[in-house]
Amino acid sequence: LTSTEESVLEKIESEDVDFLRLQFTDILGTVKNVSVPARQTEKAFTEGIYFDGSSIEGFVRIQESDMRLKPDPETFAILPWRNDENSAAARMICDVYDTSTGEPFEGDPRRVLKDALERAKEMGYTVNAAPEPEFFLFEEDEEGRATTKTNDAGGYFDLAPKDLASDVRRDIIYGLESMGFEVEASHHEVAEGQHEINFEYDDALTTADNVGTFRTVVRAIAAQHDYHATFMPKPIPKINGSGMHTHLSLFTEDGENAFHDGDDEFDLSDEARAFTAGILEHAPAITAVANPTVNSYKRLVPGYEAPVYVAWSDRNRSSLIRKPAARVPAASRVELRSPDPSCNPYLAIAVMIHAGLNGIENDLDCPDPVRENIYEFDEQKREEYGIETLPSNLGEAVDALEEDEEIYNALGEHVGAKFVEAKRQEFEEYLIDVSQWELDRYLETF
Ligand code: GLN
Ligand code: MG
Ligand code: MG
Ligand code: MG
Repeated sequence: LTSTEESVLEKIESEDVDFLRLQFTDILGTVKNVSVPARQTEKAFTEGIYFDGSSIEGFVRIQESDMRLKPDPETFAILPWRNDENSAAARMICDVYDTSTGEPFEGDPRRVLKDALERAKEMGYTVNAAPEPEFFLFEEDEEGRATTKTNDAGGYFDLAPKDLASDVRRDIIYGLESMGFEVEASHHEVAEGQHEINFEYDDALTTADNVGTFRTVVRAIAAQHDYHATFMPKPIPKINGSGMHTHLSLFTEDGENAFHDGDDEFDLSDEARAFTAGILEHAPAITAVANPTVNSYKRLVPGYEAPVYVAWSDRNRSSLIRKPAARVPAASRVELRSPDPSCNPYLAIAVMIHAGLNGIENDLDCPDPVRENIYEFDEQKREEYGIETLPSNLGEAVDALEEDEEIYNALGEHVGAKFVEAKRQEFEEYLIDVSQWELDRYLETF
């Protein structure tokens, strides 16, 4: 056993952990659990835990269903909502292995991200990432089912008493901190009932792990307060939806921020510009992965601080990429504003990295920043500036993904094919559905 594995065993002993949840993620980004008695931990480290992968979304075909989970000891954490005086439960995030070959399973999203990080490493970089997940807190009805009734009427950075959810948010933050998160800030978002909690940037793999944990903790602790927390991108029309802006930067082997250039007008190095250009170039295909639900596209419309146009800016928030002002060189980064919290964080971060690295490899030219509010541009002005539009629905986005070899290949054949198949089916189901809006509009008119 490694020393980190040894220290996990010690903590299991000292904290009276009785059950261990082994977690991994399916292609759609849902966190899955296999629970084992804590005394199996040593075996999990040395041999792994076998499970049947045939029932996990997009994993394998029935006839080749045996998978092996190998827990990553760095991800050990006690679950804050199952921790009493006598016993506790803990979790570890796992890598998935194919038992027939003994190799990492190509359908494991964590593997897809590791491949992206491997490519970065070969080019001499490590990748840092920080997400800004937003979510709504809704009331539950008498049966405990989620409603879309917001629990307050607060607005951006409002304080109590209007912001009734600050109690819930405080408990969520305690929960996150007890699981090792460094929470930087939390505030009420623009829409009523909407919140954002920011946590410290980390290496891209840890950040993707953290997003899954974050969603689980937020939902579990909200439920303890009888609220339903949702990461659905646009639960209520005509007010802001929930995004998950993602900040990215590359560091060199000697720990320098490769995105920082103090002599540049925007503090952007050549690498940062080429990386930005790569993301702009591959933006339509990235959208399929970063905005993977039918509902995602109800958020990506003009007027609600979500991006629609493929451009970058150092100031305005209507563009796809923003270059935030950095206080110190290490904080130089680019912010992609399109992702929403319904995405699979491993896949979304992986395709962003590949797109950016592709920009660096091909030395792509970065266009000038657009400093005006693009929402107010008409088509002619957008054409003049050469500004493209993001896909307007899931079907278009999946088309773009299939046409973009670079991004499709970034997912690998297995994940790429399963993802496209699942998303096509989802979009087709949506297309043939008859919505409440249609009934309201047409039923009595015709
Ligand atoms: N909710 C907005 C979005 O959909 C972002 C608002 C903000 O963080 N300023 O991206
Ligand atoms: Mg923010
Ligand atoms: Mg925000
Ligand atoms: Mg932001």
